[in-house]
Amino acid sequence: MKKCLIDGCDRDADSKAHGKKGYCSAHYQRIRIYGDAMTYKKIAKPFEFKKCLVEDCERSANRTNGGKRGYCSMHYLRVKRSGDPLVVKQTPSPAKDFIETHKDYDSDECLIWPFHRDKKDGYGRIHESGTERLITASRAMCIAAHGEPPTQRHESAHSCGKGHEGCVNPRHLYWATPEENQGDRVLHGTSNRGEAQWNHKLTVEQVREIRKLIDSHTLRELADMYSVSTRAIHSIKTRKTWAWLD
Ligand SMILES: [Zn+2]
Ligand SMILES: [Zn+2]
Ligand SMILES: [Zn+2]
Repeated sequence: MKKCLIDGCDRDADSKAHGKKGYCSAHYQRIRIYGDAMTYKKIAKPFEFKKCLVEDCERSANRTNGGKRGYCSMHYLRVKRSGDPLVVKQTPSPAKDFIETHKDYDSDECLIWPFHRDKKDGYGRIHESGTERLITASRAMCIAAHGEPPTQRHESAHSCGKGHEGCVNPRHLYWATPEENQGDRVLHGTSNRGEAQWNHKLTVEQVREIRKLIDSHTLRELADMYSVSTRAIHSIKTRKTWAWLD
């Protein structure tokens, strides 16, 4: 038996035991593969940060960070979609464009929503950016012009009282709680529908929200959220009230 050249290794370096050049077979393999008898694993190449090709972008273009072809993941996506890393390609939406181009509207006349309006309540409707859920156009305009609502309960209120006529003039819109929003009732007077009834505190928009939340929340939770009685929520659930609203 020939002892392996490596200090502390007592294995046989003899060719009969598959040793070679004075090393035992295990150490000889390591030398052959890694060039060093003491290296167990291949040392990974040190991580080299590659900056995105877009001049002002400090994001990583490394593959491990989702980068590709020298771009960070975001800019690569833009290149893929539009051919230009600086162009954000969106599906055209005249309704969203209308909000963008009219959020600084400076006339005091009512600005009537020129797109889809709900037949029942008269309010414009638009898909909310990001979530794509259907919201009133006045709410979308209120967000664009005045920022997000201060709380979830706040609704876009009209100072002109013409929400039901489709007004989205940002100067007529402000955030109000349902209690403050008495001037923005969709239905008025002698109507026995919806808001004219004892659960009059709710707006069409809120009833729609409640319907969406009704399966994931208790009557109590919803009653607290919207400051109405559990009976009011129950009646919405069973369509005893607001049945006309689709
Ligand atoms: Zn050895
Ligand atoms: Zn980038
Ligand atoms: Zn108005």
